Amino acid sequence: MPCTRHVKRIHILLPLVLALLLSACSRSARSEKQERQVFAMDTIMLLTAYGENAQAGLSAAEATILSLEAALDPEREDSELYALNHAEGAPVSVSDATLQILETGLTVWERSGGALDFTLYPAVRAWGFGGDGEYRVPDESELSALLALRGMEHIALDGHTVSLAAGQELSFGAAAKGCTAQAAVNAMRDAGVEAAILTLGGNVQTLGTKPDGSPWVVAVQDPFDTGSYLGTLSLDGGTAAVTSGNYQRYFEADGQIWHHILDPETGYPVRSGLCSVTVVCPDGTTADSLSTALFVLGEEDALAYRDRFGGFELVLVTEDRRVIVTGGLSFSEHGDFTYVYVD
Ligand code: AMP
Ligand code: MG
Repeated sequence: MPCTRHVKRIHILLPLVLALLLSACSRSARSEKQERQVFAMDTIMLLTAYGENAQAGLSAAEATILSLEAALDPEREDSELYALNHAEGAPVSVSDATLQILETGLTVWERSGGALDFTLYPAVRAWGFGGDGEYRVPDESELSALLALRGMEHIALDGHTVSLAAGQELSFGAAAKGCTAQAAVNAMRDAGVEAAILTLGGNVQTLGTKPDGSPWVVAVQDPFDTGSYLGTLSLDGGTAAVTSGNYQRYFEADGQIWHHILDPETGYPVRSGLCSVTVVCPDGTTADSLSTALFVLGEEDALAYRDRFGGFELVLVTEDRRVIVTGGLSFSEHGDFTYVYVD
């Protein structure tokens, strides 16, 4: 753990899903490609837009990303999330983005039996995964004290007003990038862009069809060799593809690797038998919330969740080098894995 043969460098591993724009494009106004890189949410983000409104679209997307970064960072004292976390149980008025993350998160929390839980923030912070913190291994008693107020059943929504149990603190690390990618694509569309693809760390979001009519092609990163990929997905416009993986953020201490997705029961990095989970569905917030929850649940329960609730497709990568691909995906193999296709 994590699934890598070369665990020498300990740092945040950059994008796990590499957007590959595979076809050449002509120089017509409709197909002219413009790109922009933005660094936000501890991630290099690559925004690509086509057509005559591309520059306006990129600027709108960048502004959206920066404003959501400011609102959703629980470490920033002027953020909306900081205000909510420090309200001592009093109701706080929140933006559409926060409301959407909370509504989606509550659904996934309930359906997954608590595998996704934004109230793990004190434990996340204790490990140093919360922001700029130093990595460290908290002991069991510290973690159990930090989990005392765990549970999303204490979150009350009333319109745009939210309250937590006094003392609870949330982070949206598991869903914020998906929500942001979705909002950024919406901002591009409102600026008149008809074709775009955004890669925010492990979160990909597409808009429209490529100018040459071909599908968007994105690569799923190989967790065992993060410079490589294990297959490609062909995506339609209006699709999110989001990956959670234990190789994305981790550190080594006491001779062990400690990664950033925590088991809500214990507060320790979860060992579910999975290295990565890629979720494909129309909505970015849903895809991001699910990718974290299904990583925690593991192979069997992740597939059972999909059978029961539907609305998304999956690529699961297991520690024993199987790649499980669900029915509705257009997937091309690349690499030395056992590929398994399920309905
Ligand atoms: P993701 O990369 O989308 O899977 O999100 C992982 C991030 O969410 C971590 O870096 C933590 O900040 C936070 N996190 C870790 N475990 C959980 C969990 N079980 N539920 C909710 N958030 C979590
Ligand atoms: Mg997630």
